[in-house]
Amino acid sequence: LAQHHKVVAEAPSNGLHLSNSHHTTVTPKEDAPSRNLKRTEFLLDRNLHKSFPLVKSACGNYINLVDGRTVFDATSGAAVSCIGHGDKRVIKAMYSVLNTGIPYLATTFWACEVVEELCKELIAGTDGKMARVYLTGSGSEAMEAAIKLARQVFYEKDPATRRVNFIAREGSYHGNTIGALGMSGHPVRRAPYEPFLMDNVHHVTACNPYRQRTDGESDTSFVARKAAELEAKFQELGPETVVAFVAEPVVGAALGCVPSVPGYLKAMRDVCHKHGALFILDEVMSGMGRCGTLHAWQDEDVVPDLQTIGKGMGGGYQPVAAVLISSRVVNILLNGSGQFIHGQTYQGMPVQAAAALEVQRIVREEGLVDNVKRQGLYLEKCLRSRLAGHPNVGDIRGRGLFWGLEFVKNKITKEPFDARLGVAQRILEAAISAPFNMTMYPGTGCADGFRGDHVILAPAYNVTKEDIEHIARVASDVVHLVFRKLV
Ligand code: PLP
Repeated sequence: LAQHHKVVAEAPSNGLHLSNSHHTTVTPKEDAPSRNLKRTEFLLDRNLHKSFPLVKSACGNYINLVDGRTVFDATSGAAVSCIGHGDKRVIKAMYSVLNTGIPYLATTFWACEVVEELCKELIAGTDGKMARVYLTGSGSEAMEAAIKLARQVFYEKDPATRRVNFIAREGSYHGNTIGALGMSGHPVRRAPYEPFLMDNVHHVTACNPYRQRTDGESDTSFVARKAAELEAKFQELGPETVVAFVAEPVVGAALGCVPSVPGYLKAMRDVCHKHGALFILDEVMSGMGRCGTLHAWQDEDVVPDLQTIGKGMGGGYQPVAAVLISSRVVNILLNGSGQFIHGQTYQGMPVQAAAALEVQRIVREEGLVDNVKRQGLYLEKCLRSRLAGHPNVGDIRGRGLFWGLEFVKNKITKEPFDARLGVAQRILEAAISAPFNMTMYPGTGCADGFRGDHVILAPAYNVTKEDIEHIARVASDVVHLVFRKLV
C-alpha cells in the first residue's frame, strides 16, 4: 500500500492539503458555481438535460474538479478503478506498447506477446480452472461473445440442435447491447426496447433474500426453493432446449450488491449440468477481486463453464473485458470446427492488454485482494453501526468492497419510495456536492417493477482503515441529510 500513499500524497493540484488524514482537511465549500458544471451540448450522453461537474484530473482515489474541490472516489467510478487513478506504472506499461507502433493488431495475421501474457495471467488467476480467454472491449461485448459461444458449443455437436433457450434472472444486468440487455432482467433499462430481437431468453427470480426470504426460512430451504424454480423452468421449456443459465454471483447495478445465498451457485450449476446445459457467470462487476476473492465463484469454488469479466480487469485504464472459457467448452471447439465463429476489428488490443496486465500484476503483488477482504469486513461493520438503525435504510448487503444500501419508505413493509422522488439520485447529488465530496453510485428498480432505490459503495482495493471510516461517516451523513429533507 506504500505506493498508494505516495500517489495520494502527490495528488493535490488545488491547494488543498491532502495527506494520510486527507479527508478531514478538505475545507467545506458552497455548492459548485454553475460555470463549473457542464451541460453536454455536443456529446449525446445518457441525460440530455443534466449538467455535470467538470473534472480536471484524478490521482489515487481522488478526482480533482475544475471548481477546486477534490472528491473522494468511494465507488471506483462504476466499480472500475480498482487500483485508483493515474498510476504511473500502468501508464508506463501502456506507453511502452504504444511506442512499438502496434497499438492495433490484426489477429487474422498476428499474435502478440503482451496479449498472450495477459491471458496467461488471467488463467493463472483461476488456478487453471479455466482454459482460454477471449478478449473484448467491454462487458457487454463479453456477454455477447459468451452468448454466441454457448450457442456454438451445441451447434458444433449438432447443427440441428434444439438448444436455443437461455435462462437468466429477474433483477440482473448484463450490458446494454441488444443481446446482453435481452438477457438482463432490468425493467427500467429494458422497457423502451421491448420486444427484443431474441425471444429465446426466459427469466427466473433473482436470489434476493431481503425481498424474497419467508419468515424463518433457512439458507438451505431458500436455495432449494430457487433450485426447484430453475428445474421447473427447464421442464417448462424442455430440458433438451436449454443452452445455459446465466447469473451474476453478486448482483451489481440491478439490485445493489446482493450476494448469492451460500449454496445457491452450486445448486443452480447442478441443475444445469444435470440437463447438459452450461452454467455462465457474469462477473463483469463483481469479479477481479471486487468481492474479496479474485473471482466471486472462488468463494465457494463453483467453477462456471463460461465467465465474463470486465471493469476491474483493466481498472479503468483502458476499455477491456473478457470471456474466460473452461476446458469443457474449449475441447468441444477443438474437437469440432476448431474456431469461434466471432471476432471484432479491435480484438487484438495490445495497449489494453498492457494496461490490464499491469493492473493485475499490481493487484497480485501488492496483495490487494486480501486487503479487499479485510477492509470489506470493516466497511460492513462501520456501515451497520452507523446506518442499520436508520428508519429508511432497509438493507445493508454486500461482500468484499462491494456494498449496497437499499432505501425504503417503510422498514416493516419494505415499501419503496415513489420513483418520482428520485431518492438514489438525490443521494448521489448530495454526496458529490460540498461539503461531502464523495461519490455514491445510485441505482433503481431493486424492488418490484420500476420502483426501489439503492446506492453502491465500491472503493479501490487499496483503501486504508481511515478511508473506510471516512466512507462510512460520509455515507451516513449524506443519508441522514437527504431523508431529513425528504420525510
Ligand atoms: N455485466 C454486468 C454484471 C455489469 O455490471 C455490466 C456493466 O455495468 C455489464 C455486464 C456491461 O459492461 P459494460 O458496461 O462494460 O459494457
